[in-house]
Amino acid sequence: PLVLGIETSCDETGVGLVRDGQLLGDALASSMDEHARFGGVVPEIAARAHLHALRPMVEHALDRAGVALGDVDAIAVTAGPGLATAVQIGLAAGKAYALALGVPLYGVHHLAGHAAVDVLEHGPLPQRCVALIVSGGHTSLLLLGDLARDPIAHLGDTADDAAGEAFDKVARLLGLPYPGGPAIDRAARTGDPSAVRFPRPLTGPTDPPYRFSFSGLKTAVARHVERHPGPLPVADLAASFQEAVADTLSRKAVAACGDHGVTTLLLVGGVAANSRVRALVAKRCAAAGITLRVPSPRLCTDNGAMIAAVGDLLVHAGATPSRLDLAADPAAVLRGALLHGPGDS
Ligand code: ATP
Ligand code: MG
Ligand code: FE
Repeated sequence: PLVLGIETSCDETGVGLVRDGQLLGDALASSMDEHARFGGVVPEIAARAHLHALRPMVEHALDRAGVALGDVDAIAVTAGPGLATAVQIGLAAGKAYALALGVPLYGVHHLAGHAAVDVLEHGPLPQRCVALIVSGGHTSLLLLGDLARDPIAHLGDTADDAAGEAFDKVARLLGLPYPGGPAIDRAARTGDPSAVRFPRPLTGPTDPPYRFSFSGLKTAVARHVERHPGPLPVADLAASFQEAVADTLSRKAVAACGDHGVTTLLLVGGVAANSRVRALVAKRCAAAGITLRVPSPRLCTDNGAMIAAVGDLLVHAGATPSRLDLAADPAAVLRGALLHGPGDS
């Protein structure tokens, strides 16, 4: 079956076409540049940009995949979480395509997409794995079974900021452009990661092992900047901050695998695109005998292929489609891949 996936939860308009675990083609537009001068995503601007970009992206993706709209067997669309006005544009479009084509609609959880996308590059997931989702809005350690069938167990989440949010805020402190994650990654290349020893939050022996906290780390960078007048050693500070995040994430993720007898770690979400996070997690997984799965950087950040990947898993699992009166759920908690509709999501 051919699944068309639509993602509009934030500032990326993503469309992907997946058939039986294979990514046939995808297309992505971003309104990132329009938000840059505001230092963050403006929901109304994002929603209007989705409205303009969605049909062209569907057409691009179909062209690249070499298929026709009439070939599509199912629609998968992000129903939450995300910016309400942005999610609604994609969801309305998904419903319209499903109705027009007479095919089932699957309203999916955005974070399930971040995890499922790995299947497109590395094949089916094992029966059980630990997933570390690190993105702009979330930082969670999860225990995954069958993504399309099983409930998802949260081992721990962030107590305050998400990892990506910390990257974005620290970038601002350092005078780096928005979005901050890629900018810090670039600046850190020429910096010394041991220049400043920033805190590794909640990594003490009596701290909750799987909970994260990044606001204190961000404050530590802010204090350091305040106390050191004069030109900022941006590269050193970027590298030192990035090292603190990578150290914290990798320690907790590897510990979670060990504690739960799991031999595969799935590292996903926008921050999984970070070169140092990838490298340190890989090193510690190798030392612990854990198989690391991490998507290519371009599939770590928001895209349409990841939503089509979830739809593909759901279709193959024989999941019941969502109802056409499914409402956007901007604050949807990740309990499973599928959001059904009123009363049972
Ligand atoms: P969520 O998925 O939680 O709803 P989102 O969709 O906004 O949030 P993603 O697209 O998954 O988040 O990721 C965007 C985040 O990833 C941003 O905070 C961005 O700064 C960060 N990011 C992207 N590339 C990198 C990188 N190379 N290094 C560090 N962070 C990065
Ligand atoms: Mg984005
Ligand atoms: Fe995301």
